[in-house]
Amino acid sequence: MELSAYKLVGRIRAKELRVEDYISSLYDRIKRMEKSVHAYITLTKDLALKRAREIDKKIERGDRTGRLCGIGIAVKDNICTKGIRTTCASHMLESFLPPYDATVIRHIDDEDGIVLGKTNMDEFAMGSSTEYSYFGPTRNPWDFDRVPGGSSGGSAAAVASSMATLALGSDTGGSIRCPASFCSTVGLKPTYGLVSRYGLIAYANSLEQIGPITGNVEDCALLLSCITSHDSLDSTSVNKPEEDYTKHLIDDVNGIRIGVPREFFGEGTQDSVEKMVWNGVLGLEGIGANYEETTLKSLQYALPAYYIIAMSEASSNLARYDGLRYGYRIPDKSYDWGTVFLKDRRFGFGFEVKRRIILGTFALSAGYHDEYYLKAQKVRTLIKRDFEMAFKKFDVLIGPTMPIPPFRIGEKVRDPLEMYMCDVDTVPSNLAGIPSISVQCGFSKGLPIGIQMMAPPFREDVLLRVAFSFQRNFPTLAKVRDK
Ligand code: GLN
Repeated sequence: MELSAYKLVGRIRAKELRVEDYISSLYDRIKRMEKSVHAYITLTKDLALKRAREIDKKIERGDRTGRLCGIGIAVKDNICTKGIRTTCASHMLESFLPPYDATVIRHIDDEDGIVLGKTNMDEFAMGSSTEYSYFGPTRNPWDFDRVPGGSSGGSAAAVASSMATLALGSDTGGSIRCPASFCSTVGLKPTYGLVSRYGLIAYANSLEQIGPITGNVEDCALLLSCITSHDSLDSTSVNKPEEDYTKHLIDDVNGIRIGVPREFFGEGTQDSVEKMVWNGVLGLEGIGANYEETTLKSLQYALPAYYIIAMSEASSNLARYDGLRYGYRIPDKSYDWGTVFLKDRRFGFGFEVKRRIILGTFALSAGYHDEYYLKAQKVRTLIKRDFEMAFKKFDVLIGPTMPIPPFRIGEKVRDPLEMYMCDVDTVPSNLAGIPSISVQCGFSKGLPIGIQMMAPPFREDVLLRVAFSFQRNFPTLAKVRDK
């Protein structure tokens, strides 16, 4: 269970390990750990074991097998899986059975990966702690009293506690990188347009991407290679030749130019985080990279701009949940559409989702649109330009993933602004559409801390190379054992 996907595929193909045995052992592990962690909303054990037997047969017959040959994958519950409940951790979609698979799920299937189940998340991916789930919070495997980060908290916790070998998350403003950092895993938000969003239930479409959450950088490159494709079903998907990202796993950062923007160490950054991240930068310098401090002035406005844009898009995207076409419908004798719409949304959505719909609607409304939405879009352009300028000088930019280590369950849930502040270092990449990875860079009082690396659009190769070298030379990655 603690082996990387990379190694497991080798053993499975060499017939040293049967897929059925490996998948069964993952479910045994889930049975033991799930009570404490609660990473999953839905498990698909029967389907997974059936698929495992099919792949074992393929191997016995000597048929060609896919790159994910038998590997167990946890999938965030906002990614549509045909006939398998996809809830977005919302009462609204509690019993929603998608009639189709997301494009990424089709790729996983084509590559012989196996979906283990659907993972817990903040409702409609709105949050940074996985506490805003209709199904209750997920717990951090490193400390059960703390949050795993969010919104893809279930996916990261499943990988960190060996309840899945690989996982998929989605990242609108940090939802892959934040839980990756809090759970001591690797999380990559790809360049906007690299991975198809078809079948990803929309929160804020102009910002989000699906991406891998894994135990190490090799697995991250492997899973990324399998899910990237041009997809005519997503009009924002980029028509670019497919790439094998595993060939960028090179332990060499000689001559790599690192920029360290001051804005990533602003007010609210904990000393221990600052120290660990700087240790990481100095470590990279020690193995051949060059670094320089720099400044991206517009980043001070990234957080407010992000929240205005994300909430505005959410208010529009979530208008489709009217109780008629999707999911939850309260029993009501009245046929008056207004009443039904009102009641279904009042009881179907949680309080954070409602808060965002209301704020987003406000930001878009006549009279306020120019002051909020339009202004935020202008700031977004400035941020994009600042990154473009910085990347003329640097190959990667580095900062913390999260300004603080994982916090206690319940600590921030009552104060939305405090929760939003946690995203200060992750949202810039989404506003600019650039790729960004979080890797483990140390522990503070037993709690994981992540380092974030950002690169120009479609330069996932550079990110993977630097992240791989970092992991190789400073191996702090570890997995949780049973308590
Ligand atoms: N925490 C951020 C938010 O609540 C990001 C969420 C995400 O990336 N889906 O909007």
